[in-house]
Amino acid sequence: MKFPDALLIDGRWQTEAGGGRLELIEPATEEPLCEVPAAGKADIDRALQSAAAAFAKTNWSRRTDRADVLYRIAAGIRAKTDELARLESRNVGKPIGDALWEVRAAARCFEYYAGGISRFGGETIPVNAQGLDYTLRLPLGLVVCIVPWNFPLLMACWKVAPALATGNAVVLKPASLTPLSALALGRVVEEAGVPEGIFQVVAGRGSEIGDYLVAHPLVRKIAFTGETATGSRILKLAADRIKRVSLELGGKSPNLIFADADVEAAAAAAPLAVFGNAGQDCCARSRILVERSVYDRFLEALVQSTRQLNIGDPASEATQVGPLVSASQRQRVERYVQLAKDSRGRILCGGDRGREPGYFFNPVVVDGLPPDSRVCQEEIFGPLTCVIPFDDEEEAVRLANQTEYGLAGSLWTGDLERALRVAQRVETGVMSVNTNSSVYQEAPFGGFKQSGYGRDLGMEAMRLYTEIKNVFVALPESEPT
Ligand code: NAD
Repeated sequence: MKFPDALLIDGRWQTEAGGGRLELIEPATEEPLCEVPAAGKADIDRALQSAAAAFAKTNWSRRTDRADVLYRIAAGIRAKTDELARLESRNVGKPIGDALWEVRAAARCFEYYAGGISRFGGETIPVNAQGLDYTLRLPLGLVVCIVPWNFPLLMACWKVAPALATGNAVVLKPASLTPLSALALGRVVEEAGVPEGIFQVVAGRGSEIGDYLVAHPLVRKIAFTGETATGSRILKLAADRIKRVSLELGGKSPNLIFADADVEAAAAAAPLAVFGNAGQDCCARSRILVERSVYDRFLEALVQSTRQLNIGDPASEATQVGPLVSASQRQRVERYVQLAKDSRGRILCGGDRGREPGYFFNPVVVDGLPPDSRVCQEEIFGPLTCVIPFDDEEEAVRLANQTEYGLAGSLWTGDLERALRVAQRVETGVMSVNTNSSVYQEAPFGGFKQSGYGRDLGMEAMRLYTEIKNVFVALPESEPT
């Protein structure tokens, strides 16, 4: 398999860079996978200078064929579906079935925003004056997209596609653990005919170049997905120059099971809602709240379906859960398992290392912890879920909202009125009823509270990459003839 080995800076593929090398380890084998150059500050500066110059000099934002270019990017992704999925699977340790789904979703994302170009615009406003008032949606200029390692290609496309669709220049920085699919995307975008310099990919270490990238005076907007602490730091750095920022941050999402729900269906669906992607999912439903009268029944079914998960080789189509992304991520989960034990939580299954080599970890179900304990409150980002009982709807909503995060949530009930009531009262950006699926290309996705602000996906995302301008044209009334 050929791995991408160069950064895309100023229209050229660069195999050496000022930040040394990123040595990637394959999570499923713990063996070295490949190396890519790491951008240093001088590389970042060159990328940003040339992207800003490309925005000013090329007519990208005014080109009427931008939709055609985006459709070609989508087609390029589709043509490389297998290659991109294998790359992502080996780099992240992601099951190949999940990776294939994500690559197809990435292509659909470009198709959606290609179509969005002709539907997204300003409006005319009937102002109280003699004339015509209308708004324009104008590109921001240079946008930096910073993405995490859990869904590297998809998170990148959620930002890059609407940013390019609205006519911006884009510099993409993937996470240092998972740069490969972003670099491969660079090839696809280049081949689709995006003008030189309008799209650049700079892999590198956030700890070394992140601040420089964010604070750079040429950057107009930062679109970020990652940890809440990193998002907070970015926001502070962006404040000096009033940069636009959108933040998709961490989560500790609730999954509420009411006694009048199809309890078996909820228990069968719950494991993949938290252990999918080995729990490294911002939407992971990692606090399962269950009405007390069905608590034992639910718990038993949950543990049973968790034990039935197919954990193993990410290259196998049958695998549902692969390894964690890195040794340090596995250690982090192990620390939380210890913390749960120290707090007298009951470990009902898992909690130990799985097959080796590879950063495998057997999914953990724990109960008996106070809802305000660290394990029930902090984002673990690994295969661990807490189960907590509640007595009535009021308590369910209170516990669901007892967190600093507010990204996603599910509720399971047979009572339609309760579903509508609770869906509205839980403080999260997305909510699903009688399913754990709440992320759709056409619908806005993002968080309340410390899960961030701004929205990916849907037409909402296009607004985030534009400025709105109001124009008033005086039209004095003509004399009647
Ligand atoms: P992270 O915050 O450590 O890193 C994210 C990106 O930021 C990486 O590219 C990293 O190199 C970069 N970075 C690090 N320090 C930086 C700095 N000072 N300035 C600029 N960039 C910097 O997050 P991660 O560990 O890669 O990802 C996991 C986190 O992402 C979890 O908290 C998860 O919930 C969150 N996440 C959120 C969503 C969402 O849509 N809300 C989606 C996926 C992941």
